[in-house]
Amino acid sequence: ENLSNQIAAGEVIERPASVVKELVENSIDAGASRIRVDFVDSGLKQIVVQDNGSGIAKDQIDLAFTRHATSKINNEHDLFNVATLGFRGEALASIAAVAHIEILTNTANGIGSRAVFSGGSKLTQEDGASAQGTKITVKDLFFNTPARLKYLRSPRTEMVKIVDIINRIALGYPQIALTLSNKGKVLLRTPGNGKLPQTVATVYGRHIAEKMVAIKNDDSDFQVAGLISKPELTRSTRNFISILLNGRYIRNFKLATAVMDGYGSKLTAKHYPIAIISIKVDPLLVDVNVHPTKQEVRLSKEKELGRLITSAVSAALIDKGQ
Ligand code: ADP
Ligand code: MG
Repeated sequence: ENLSNQIAAGEVIERPASVVKELVENSIDAGASRIRVDFVDSGLKQIVVQDNGSGIAKDQIDLAFTRHATSKINNEHDLFNVATLGFRGEALASIAAVAHIEILTNTANGIGSRAVFSGGSKLTQEDGASAQGTKITVKDLFFNTPARLKYLRSPRTEMVKIVDIINRIALGYPQIALTLSNKGKVLLRTPGNGKLPQTVATVYGRHIAEKMVAIKNDDSDFQVAGLISKPELTRSTRNFISILLNGRYIRNFKLATAVMDGYGSKLTAKHYPIAIISIKVDPLLVDVNVHPTKQEVRLSKEKELGRLITSAVSAALIDKGQ
């Protein structure tokens, strides 16, 4: 069983940033309003994610670490109507297969638990009082799968990937107070007050936030809202165009292009805007079950959405006399 968990881990957990992403998404699904992430040595030595979410009941901990067991999907209908970030029940089992994990968790009216998993099996579990929420410590990632370590990039690059994923989650959830620190040194702290411009200011800096304009557009299927940079503020890559579909950061070349199309000739070659595009859509129109990392999705009416985004962008730039 641990072998198949290790194989699954290879798909979901490619690098330290994947651990950070999966754990923080679990915290969001658990309804947390505050999430702290700390990492040591680009995440290979230690990653800690602490939230004030629902917590896990004492008798549900084993299930949480069992592959394909999820509390988020109960039937086939749910699978086509995914309203949570997680639904595959793979992350905790996959991480536990390739690292040491300690979990401290408590529900609103529980007594609290502490459990330790290593290389796929549970070593201990005991009662232990703690505040409501969950704190997961992941140590020595890939200690038993040395081949994985060889695929990692430099410590610097792995750290940038952690920062990048947290930045995008922060932009997708301005109502959550997120703190990212490296060995206690704070790298990002968002206000968690629901205000996107203030969140952008903490992620990209105030000088950037001041050069962003709001966009908004709806049709019967989609609600598009967000912030885009004025044409004079550009970057040399597309990486600063973040598309968030029901809060989930997705990679979608066509939708990123739709953002750029809205600038028309205001954008010169090899210049790319900064944009945060939040899309709300009925989950029934989205198939997130395409890839284990869930960053690629299949979207009904993608063309319509693209046009909606393009016209939202061009209207906002005309409004502001850009
Ligand atoms: P999935 O998110 O796809 O359900 P995971 O392996 O990521 O699968 O998590 C397994 C289960 O553990 C979740 O369905 C949830 O019930 C529980 N869980 C994980 N992390 C947390 C958390 N931070 N707070 C509350 N419950 C959690
Ligand atoms: Mg999950």
